[in-house]
Formats: sequence, C-alpha cells, structure tokens
Amino acid sequence: MALWYMTAASAMALQAAGIDAEIHEAYPRVAENVGSFLNLASNGLAALRALGVHREALSSAIPTPRMVMWSGTGKRLGEVANGLRLDDGTVSHTVLRADLYGSLRDEAARRGIPITYGKRLVSYDDTGDEVVATFEDGTSATGDLLIACDGVHSRTRSLLDPGAPGPRYSGLYSFGGIVRDAGVGGEPGVYNMIFGRRAFFGYTVAESGDTWWFANLPRRLGDVPADWRPVLVAAFEGDANLSADLVRRAPACPALPVYDLPPVPVWHKGRVLLTGDAAHATSPSSGQGASLAVEDAVVLARCLREAKGHREAFERFEAERRPRVERVVAYSRTISTSKAAGPVARVFRDLMLPMFLKRSASQESLAWMYRHQVGL
Ligand SMILES: Cc1cc2nc3c(=O)[nH]c(=O)nc-3n(C[C@H](O)[C@H](O)[C@H](O)COP(=O)(O)OP(=O)(O)OC[C@H]3O[C@@H](n4cnc5c(N)ncnc54)[C@H](O)[C@@H]3O)c2cc1C
Repeated sequence: MALWYMTAASAMALQAAGIDAEIHEAYPRVAENVGSFLNLASNGLAALRALGVHREALSSAIPTPRMVMWSGTGKRLGEVANGLRLDDGTVSHTVLRADLYGSLRDEAARRGIPITYGKRLVSYDDTGDEVVATFEDGTSATGDLLIACDGVHSRTRSLLDPGAPGPRYSGLYSFGGIVRDAGVGGEPGVYNMIFGRRAFFGYTVAESGDTWWFANLPRRLGDVPADWRPVLVAAFEGDANLSADLVRRAPACPALPVYDLPPVPVWHKGRVLLTGDAAHATSPSSGQGASLAVEDAVVLARCLREAKGHREAFERFEAERRPRVERVVAYSRTISTSKAAGPVARVFRDLMLPMFLKRSASQESLAWMYRHQVGL
C-alpha cells in the first residue's frame, strides 16, 4: 500500500484497522515551514483522538476556544466559540504546522510505519491487481492501493481524471508568523479576528508572550512583490489596532496564494483514491482543512475494514464524506469572499456581521461542522 502525507494520520488509521501502509513523501525531509500555524478544531481533535495521538499533536499548541471579531475602526463586533469542547475538556488549539506534522510523523515511525522521503510521484500504473507508483527519481513502489494525500495541487488528481478541476484562487494572499515577546496584551485563549478596511488580520497571544499572527490581503494572483511587508503595512495603516505595527516587526514569511477546489467529480478509480486537500481543499478561512484530512483518514480506515473490497470501501467513503466536505468548502468560501470585500460590500458586511455573530454565538448554527465525530 502506498500513501502520502497528513498521511501519517492515514497510515496510523489504516494500521489500527489491520492494514499495512507505507508513506512516500515528495520532500527530501518533511517541510518544516517554521512559523506557520493552523487551527485544529474540535472535530479534527476528535479524529486525532480516535487515533490516540491528540495529546502528542497538541504538546506545544495554544488553546484557543474563543474568537473575538473586530472591525478596522476598532469596534468589537462580537464573539463566537472556536469549535466545541470535547467530553474530556479538550478545546480547539492553534498549533505550529511543523509541530503537528513532526509529532504525527514521529508517532507513525514509532508505530513502525515505513516513511520514505524525496519520492515525488510522477505517474502510476493501475494493473487491476496492484498499483505501481513511479517517482521523479526513477524509482517505483508497488502496493494494493494508492491513497493519494498529495495536497491541493495534487498530481494524482490529474492522473486519475485529466478533466479534474484545478485549484481555484480565492483572491487572497495569506501571510503569517510569530513575533517574539511582542508585548501585546490580550486575553489568553482568544483568537482576535479583525476585518480591516483593506485586509484581514488575526492574532493570538501565547503564554510565553509571543504573538502568533496572520493576514489575508486581497490581491491579484502573481501581484505580490518579493518584499511584501511595506504593502501589508500600507494595507493596515489607519486601522485602529496593532496590525500594522506587528507586521512591521514580523520576520519575513512567504506570501501564500489561498486556493480551494470546486467539487472534484472523480475521487476514485480502480485502486486509486484521493483524500484530504487532493479531493476537497477548502480555503483556510474555516480553519478546517487539516481537521477534514484527519477525519478522512479515520473514515477511510473504517470503510476499508468493514467493506467487502476496496471498490465498496471507496464508494462508502465518498458517500459519507462528500456531502460534509463540500458543505465546509462552500461555508469557507463565503468567509473568504467577505474578507476580500470591496468598499461597498465592506460597509454591508460590517453592518451585518454583528447580527450574524449573535446568531452563531450559541454555536448551534455551526454544530454540524464542529460536533462531527468520526470513529474507527
Ligand atoms: C495559509 C494556510 C492556512 C491554513 N490554515 C488552516 C487552519 O487554520 N486549520 C486547518 O485545519 N487547515 C488550515 N489550512 C489547510 C491545511 O493546511 C490543509 O487542509 C491540510 O494540510 C491538508 O492536508 P493534506 O495532507 O491533504 O495535504 P498537504 O498538507 O498539502 O500535504 C500534501 C503532501 O503531499 C506531498 N506531495 C505533494 N505532491 C506530491 C507528489 N507528487 N508525490 C509525493 N508527495 C507529494 C507534499 O510534499 C505534502 O507533504 C491552511 C492552509 C493554508 C495554505
């Protein structure tokens, strides 16, 4: 069996279901991506807990159970819960990407799952009885199934279906990192989200005093200079908060164009299946992409264990996952659109947002997303 990444989670889920898995990863060593972080919501944590790895994944994360929304003029628009509390009290966390991936990778290795690096898939041959994956370095690997978790720009997706849609640019660039000892006061556990006049800013303060921040800047694709900080400072200048100041003090970080995927019609063919971002990338605005990828891992393992063969398992997997993930992608896209709002839409948004926040403060309106719990 051959696999890729978030795939440490997939491989551990398969192992728990009694199926041997190997991981083949394109990077020479896992991309550390230092400073970049993501939100692990309650549903993703529940999926990690089903694999017995949620404590490892959270060892250096910041608990962030609440989100407070602000307008660029400094007006507090409202507060919503960031996900739900699991029955053991665990709340949503903000975690360094490198720590999350590193801890899952180390745990997979500890559980005896083979991982090979520098293996970028370029093609595969599904013979009907097995799959032979060929890598850029000329080597190949053979397995019963190929479970592709190769991300939003998935090569496997276009090999599986040459007509498959490609990533859809959201109109936003994302930036982010950590400012050490920033001296920013703030309530612990709160993620501050600021709908600025020209760009969106989010930050939370760790116990250490470090400030973890990110920004979303509406921008044409390809139109970001090598030194983007003056552009970002200019975008936040005049907003009644500390965004411009934090950006000035931030170390350099990559400018990442934000993509999602329109519905991908074909998720599996023969012995090959797409999972995670390869099948259903969502924009980061919902903070759900990684959580959905781990949910996929758990559900797939259960389907493979319970079904009569891989065909039935893949069909069950798609039937169970497609409605949920497409709902999250659509929800996330709505938020991204509001972040990229033009001047007129922005006025409307700022008027409507407090009402929307009041409605979702109870969490019931988003319970479908956060309360979802998958099991093996
Ligand atoms: C700016 C930003 C912020 C985000 N914030 C959040 C957040 O707060 N919360 C959240 O849940 N999600 C967030 N996400 C989304 C999250 O990162 C993804 O949804 C999640 O990582 C998907 O996991 P995956 O395993 O499917 O794909 P990826 O994490 O993209 O992993 C794909 C892997 O496949 C490997 N690969 C690629 N091509 C090949 C190939 N040809 N052969 C072999 N290996 C290959 C890559 O090297 C990589 O290791 C964010 C994303 C971005 C860009």
